[in-house]
Amino acid sequence: MRENDRHTATDADYDAVVVGAGFSGLYQLHRLRDELGLSVKLVEKANDVGGTWYWNRYPGARCDSESHIYCYSFNDEIMEEWQWSERYPRQPEVLEYLRFVADHLDLRKDIEFGTEVTSATFEEDTGTWQVETDDGETLSSQFFVTAVGCLSTPYVPDFENRDAYQGETYHTGKWPHDPVDFEDKRVAVIGTGASGIQTIPEVARADIEQLTVFQRTPNYAVPARNRSLDDEDWEEIQRNYEEIMAEAHDDGSGLPFDTARETAADLTMADIEAVLEPRWEEGGWRFLVAFEDLLVNPETNEKVSQYLREKIRGAVDDPETAEKLVPTDHYYATKRPPLHTDYYDTFNRDNVSLVDVTETPVDRFTTGGIRTEDGEDREFDMVIFATGFDAMTGTLLRMDIEGRNGLTLEERWADGPKTYLGLGVHGFPNMFTVTGPQSPSVLSNMPVPIENHVEWISETIGDLVEGGTPYIEPTGVAEEDWTEHNMDLAQETLYTTVDSWYMNENIPGKPTVFVPYPGGVDIYQDTIREVREKGYEGFTLADSVDDLGRRGESPQLGVFEAMELLHADPDMDLADLMEMA
Ligand code: FAD
Ligand code: NAP
Repeated sequence: MRENDRHTATDADYDAVVVGAGFSGLYQLHRLRDELGLSVKLVEKANDVGGTWYWNRYPGARCDSESHIYCYSFNDEIMEEWQWSERYPRQPEVLEYLRFVADHLDLRKDIEFGTEVTSATFEEDTGTWQVETDDGETLSSQFFVTAVGCLSTPYVPDFENRDAYQGETYHTGKWPHDPVDFEDKRVAVIGTGASGIQTIPEVARADIEQLTVFQRTPNYAVPARNRSLDDEDWEEIQRNYEEIMAEAHDDGSGLPFDTARETAADLTMADIEAVLEPRWEEGGWRFLVAFEDLLVNPETNEKVSQYLREKIRGAVDDPETAEKLVPTDHYYATKRPPLHTDYYDTFNRDNVSLVDVTETPVDRFTTGGIRTEDGEDREFDMVIFATGFDAMTGTLLRMDIEGRNGLTLEERWADGPKTYLGLGVHGFPNMFTVTGPQSPSVLSNMPVPIENHVEWISETIGDLVEGGTPYIEPTGVAEEDWTEHNMDLAQETLYTTVDSWYMNENIPGKPTVFVPYPGGVDIYQDTIREVREKGYEGFTLADSVDDLGRRGESPQLGVFEAMELLHADPDMDLADLMEMA
């Protein structure tokens, strides 16, 4: 029930319900509760804070963002008191950081842990969200904020006969809390994305008998070159912290790193090596940002990709294995670019082998292991799925969200996500999505867009409360325009040249569409700031739910959709459209 003064216009239990206690949800709770004085309940499925860093405990789990920028910048005390121990923090250290933040801001008392939101319905009579949880409770609130993460629903492919396998199975994104015993085991790892690339060297280093890696698409991994940070490093960071964070927030990728050059298209390979070699030696994502047009100019990208291919060939002893590890079917960074520590070296070990499943597909699981289509049976004591996530939309859609007129998010997004600014959805009043689809999110160092989103949402809720306006919702037209803008921008990039989870392609049956906003964090921030400054351009602000319905368009059918339908079917008339709406 309400703990603070009543600030909002409904008779709900809380002013806001927030879902998820990772980077996003923790900050959202703090802003709404401590700066606006609202009553807020945060619901979290896990038994602790941390989000990604609570669930992903696999061997080798570590940040690819550098520690000093993979953190909040909103609170000077937190920035001064917390000191990272390594250039890239391991999973336990990031988890510890988020625990520290939760304690520092006294957030736990408003978090219901071990509780999953199973549905959220906008009740038109009361104008409130009714949020149901798996313990049978219903929480009502005026505002409903999802902070459920872009990568929080693990995905295991539906391999034939998978359940018949009797050995141990793990998914990197749902790793057990108790230690896993690798001793003398024959281990299979399926998947060579960022999680697989971190897991594989650590498993190989453990006391195993044999490791077999099942690879579908080889990846371009750049060395991380991790190292400890000592007091001197930390003093240096602290001296410049404000400036570093300002640069990160002013950058398209949320990274405070300089680019070397606009393009590589006009350079010879020798020139390119001269630019890239120092960045390769330094390690990390400074390599990624060397050339500004990397993701829009195939000539630049092909040259950088070529450089990386030669590095892989040079690192792996067996030429046949090396060739399998060299990506030739996609441009560098069109799939999320991982960092690595000893990944390629791992394949020089005698007890590590690589199965290229494009050449030798998995036929089925057996009780003892995996049979490939060439008829070979491989026996394993343990299979690790490093097969990724139902990313960006999967967790939201699993929450069974229903907006006005009984329209579900699943129906609304049947052809792919549609949002306005990645922050809200037409037909779903007072719902905000932190790092929602069509926002920069996963294309950047994520704490930056997370802070940006949380602050915008908080300021908006603050404006509504102060102005006595109870409802906000994106218009259908604004949503269509933003969706189209997102698609147009994506078409100008190389991202759309490959199947990836950015394209929704990793989960069978999902509509193919580029999901995150590719225009850059900096431009995006300016855009949403301007929308607010223009009095929430593209949103309907209303005094009642009826008013929302009257002044917004039909949530079922946007104007562009309606025009497309009329255009595609000459027999369709306005009456048919009205009926569909
Ligand atoms: P999350 O941390 O995913 O938190 C969402 C929370 O919502 C989870 O705790 C989940 O349990 C909860 N939840 C979901 N559904 C429900 C429900 N129905 N009911 C109740 N609770 C629910 N990003 C970077 O920028 N740099 C990196 O180096 C980096 N490394 C990563 C490493 C791994 C292994 C992974 C998987 C991701 C990494 N990311 C990285 C992305 C990372 O997800 C974000 O940086 C950030 O942690 C996201 O925070 P979040 O709070 O938005 O989401
Ligand atoms: P991912 O990038 O989706 O990789 C999944 C892997 O499994 C891919 O190699 C994929 O091959 C393979 N795969 C999927 N289905 C398969 C099938 N049926 N048969 C064979 N192989 C299959 O997932 P992830 O590695 O967990 O990473 C997800 C995201 O989390 C990252 O991109 C990143 O954003 C984040 N992450 C970050 C870090 C970090 O920063 N340190 C670490 C881990 C994860 P295809 O490529 O052919 O689809």
